[in-house]
Amino acid sequence: EDKEEELVIDYVSKNMNNMTVNMPYQCFINGKFIDADDGKTYDTINPADGSVIASVSSASLADVDKAVAAAKEAFENGEWRRMNARERGRLMYRLADLMEEHQEELATIESIDSGAVYTLALKTHIGMSVQTFRYFAGWCDKIQGATIPINQARPNHNLTFTKKEPIGVCAIIIPWNYPLMMLAWKSAACLAAGNTLVLKPAQVTPLTSLKFAELSAKAGFPKGVINILPGSGGLVGQHLSEHPDVRKVGFTGSTPTGKQIMKSAAANLKKVSLELGGKSPLIIFSDCELDRAVKMGMGAVYFNKGENCIAAGRLFVEESIHDEFVRKVVEEIKKMKIGDPLDRSTDHGPQNHKAHLEKLLQYCETGVKEGATLVYGGRQVCRPGFFMEPTVFTDVEDHMYIAQEESFGPVMVISKFKNGDIDGVLQRANATEYGLASGVFTKDINKALYISEKLEAGTVFINTYNKTDVAAPFGGFKLSGFGKDLGKLSPSLISCLRVLINEKSNAWVQCI
Ligand code: NAD
Repeated sequence: EDKEEELVIDYVSKNMNNMTVNMPYQCFINGKFIDADDGKTYDTINPADGSVIASVSSASLADVDKAVAAAKEAFENGEWRRMNARERGRLMYRLADLMEEHQEELATIESIDSGAVYTLALKTHIGMSVQTFRYFAGWCDKIQGATIPINQARPNHNLTFTKKEPIGVCAIIIPWNYPLMMLAWKSAACLAAGNTLVLKPAQVTPLTSLKFAELSAKAGFPKGVINILPGSGGLVGQHLSEHPDVRKVGFTGSTPTGKQIMKSAAANLKKVSLELGGKSPLIIFSDCELDRAVKMGMGAVYFNKGENCIAAGRLFVEESIHDEFVRKVVEEIKKMKIGDPLDRSTDHGPQNHKAHLEKLLQYCETGVKEGATLVYGGRQVCRPGFFMEPTVFTDVEDHMYIAQEESFGPVMVISKFKNGDIDGVLQRANATEYGLASGVFTKDINKALYISEKLEAGTVFINTYNKTDVAAPFGGFKLSGFGKDLGKLSPSLISCLRVLINEKSNAWVQCI
């Protein structure tokens, strides 16, 4: 008789946030936590003080092959894809419940591994991950095809019907800014459709993914359905994208890596969906509610310390309110509390890792060299860890590096536009290769709609910003990628369409 094997987990345990936080640190393959094949490990660092949190297994090429083989076997044995779809949904609900039960522990791990302030980690990083699993759990038994009448001359004679089938083994490769939330956005729809997966978290933020693996096993997911491999992008990510047994790559990360993945995926014509970088424009008109525009504009830039793919990379402020807008922003920045992300009163935590902080400081230096005015910040905060001051640049000209390139940090880049010059500012806002998000602040709804029609971006926020929801599709245009996460269409993107043609079937004729 088959006996359920017990899940054996070694933890790194730490007492923090008034609880014991247990973090698995090994690769999760075929329902087991195991060391990397070659025994290699690397340290994951707490960006709040530069200390080592844990030594994590660093997956090798052999581990990728093992994980893909496990996911393939789990797909082919049908235990997951042929499971009653409602039972699949029930497992996903159970996993969401377990994530919620462990939300404080998950938020603490996310906070120390990524530098997100705890309050935000709890509400957004973990809260939205739970919601995403619940939302897609509900889709499991609603992924359907259609019935299409053909041969219109004899409409009751022939029918075509379509079915949605899972694709197979999916590789999921994610970035470090919202580690668990990106895992959820990419994995939940994929699992709901009946696929199996191998996920590679960003090398610098592996811990919530591994905790998630533990919870999936506790929820009762069959072994091999979910596999998690911490490790390097160039090795693990690249091998997954090239692997002949992987049928789809779901990727969130930078545009250069997205291009590389598309090339690797071409070898066996894998499906690919890419959520990439952005330089999202935010246009603020003088007829807006100014205090709201200041508050939302700051959220658009400084939310999650600017490590936010839809962050407003460039603000265009109408000349007549420009100076007042800048003055109010600086006044508000001075009230922000920078410090320990686990402290509930902190507004602004450390940047995710040292190299990123260094890149941001360089970015600001380039801005100054090019002649933009540094109104506030631009420096590292004088304390241990990787903290950066919230920064404001004005007088930014369109050709400058900081006007064109994503910072992915807390840097507000402001340019003026002439009073009333709607088409001029639109043209400048669209003069970027990216097209992820955009925003407009005005009380004039006609103006807002006119602009939202013309902005080349996957999302246009009107009088708000950062408002994403699991039920609304999310994704970019142009170099920001293709394929949508979230919303009801995303399970379809992770399915194949099978067409069945039925001729002269009395049963079908009678149905009609
Ligand atoms: P990145 O592209 O460097 O890394 C993303 C992931 O890809 C990591 O897991 C990395 O290890 C892996 N990787 C690296 N090289 C690889 C290769 N050759 N083959 C396969 N995988 C490889 O990006 P990052 O620095 O982790 O994240 C920041 C970027 O992500 C920013 O540009 C940001 O805008 C973007 N982002 C986009 C969204 C979105 O939804 N559009 C969301 C979050 C972040």
